[in-house]
Order: sequence, then structure tokens, then C-alpha cells
Amino acid sequence: MCPGGYVVPATSEANAVVTNGMSQWQRQGENANSAVVVSVRPEDFPGDDVLAGIALQRQIERSAFQRGGMSYAAPAQRWEDFLLNRATTAWGKVKPTYRPAAAMSDLNGLFPAFVSESLKAGIPLLAEKLSGFADGDAVLTAPETRSSAPYRIVRDEKGESSVGGLYPAGEGAGYAGGIMSSAADGMRSAEKICVG
Ligand SMILES: Cc1cc2nc3c(=O)[nH]c(=O)nc-3n(C[C@H](O)[C@H](O)[C@H](O)COP(=O)(O)OP(=O)(O)OC[C@H]3O[C@@H](n4cnc5c(N)ncnc54)[C@H](O)[C@@H]3O)c2cc1C
Repeated sequence: MCPGGYVVPATSEANAVVTNGMSQWQRQGENANSAVVVSVRPEDFPGDDVLAGIALQRQIERSAFQRGGMSYAAPAQRWEDFLLNRATTAWGKVKPTYRPAAAMSDLNGLFPAFVSESLKAGIPLLAEKLSGFADGDAVLTAPETRSSAPYRIVRDEKGESSVGGLYPAGEGAGYAGGIMSSAADGMRSAEKICVG
């Protein structure tokens, strides 16, 4: 979810749209851009099997594909329209920069209600520290569903999984989310393997 500008496609999966809020080199993009993360707990998953979190991701990503007109456009909405639960019909002073395209939409129907409610509660708080963050014309582009793995490959105190010699670490194994925590987990895992 990106109130601002530059987001990129983050998956090549068919019939799914996933974005990644990122800053361009030297932060010279047309708009300021940032991802807004909402906590999703296992009890929010649509089931209790081990891959239920992935099912939720896929449900949102496929819905985004549909809402974007099945052309890999990302659904997007003005912040004011999101607050008022109405689809955007015209951009304001902030123009989306997402490629291949941003499709005017109502993101309230894309997310589970608790996600929309969290965003509506959280973004105004961010705006108290970051001027303009909750401007009515700020653009939300969605979804960024791959910020961390919704499962964990279990490892023992030596960092080894139930498959001997396999040491799950980092984001894809479910022990980190982002650059710093992935790097720290990788270092910790390597130390355990080296020291024993
Ligand atoms: C566009 C983009 C922007 C991002 N921006 C940010 C940001 O601003 N801040 C932030 O904190 N995080 C950001 N992230 C997330 C961050 O990049 C990841 O959280 C982090 O890189 C995960 O580290 P990792 O070591 O767990 O996995 P990776 O960095 O994905 O490393 C996994 C490695 O395993 C290799 N590999 C995969 N399969 C095999 C195999 N079978 N055999 C051998 N090697 C294999 C891969 O080639 C890769 O080198 C961004 C991600 C993207 C895509």
C-alpha cells in the first residue's frame, strides 16, 4: 500500500498483481513513496492449515488483478476517496507513477475490513509526523502482499530443520522481513553453523 508514487510490479505470477513500494536511485521520483504495513496474524488467515497465509495473499493478489482490469494494472485510489468508501474517478494533484498502469478503484473491497480500518486509523497518525502524508490527493497503490512470509520453516536450537543439513534462514524461511532483519538472521545462522 503506497501513498505516493513509485511502485513496481513484484511478481511474475499469472493473474495476480503484487506491488513493491521503493525509492528510485537518488530519490528523484516524481512523488514521495512509502509502503504502509498492516499486521496480519495467523487468526486473520482464512483457515488453519500451514499455507493458509499464502491463500490469503493469493486471494488479495488475484482480486487486485481483476480490479485492475486483468491487464496487470494495479488498483489505486485517492486517499480521500478511500476514507469515504467511494471509487476514484479522477486523479488530483498527485498522479500515480506505477507501471504498467494504475487503475482507479475502491481498495475497500480489495482488503479484509480489518486491513482497511487499520490503514484509516494509522495513516492520519503518520501524517502528524510527515506533512502531506494524508493529503486527500495522495495515491494508494495496492497490494504489497509479500512484505514477509506468512509461514515459518521450523528449525532447532542449532538452526537446523527436520531435514538434516538444511538450515532455513532469512525472509523466505519466515525468520525475517526486510533487509536488516534478513542480514541479522543470516549472520546468526552462519555463526551457529560455524561454531556448532
Ligand atoms: C524491489 C524491492 C524493494 C525492496 N525494498 C526494501 C527496503 O527498502 N527495505 C527493506 O528492508 N527491504 C526491502 N526489500 C526486501 C528485501 O530485499 C528482502 O527482505 C531481503 O532481500 C531478503 O533477504 P534474504 O536473504 O532472506 O533473501 P534474498 O535476498 O532473496 O536471498 C535469497 C538468495 O537465495 C538464492 N537462491 C534461491 N533459490 C536458490 C537455490 N535453489 N539454490 C541456490 N540459491 C538460491 C537467490 O538467488 C538469492 O540470492 C525489497 C525487496 C524488493 C524486491
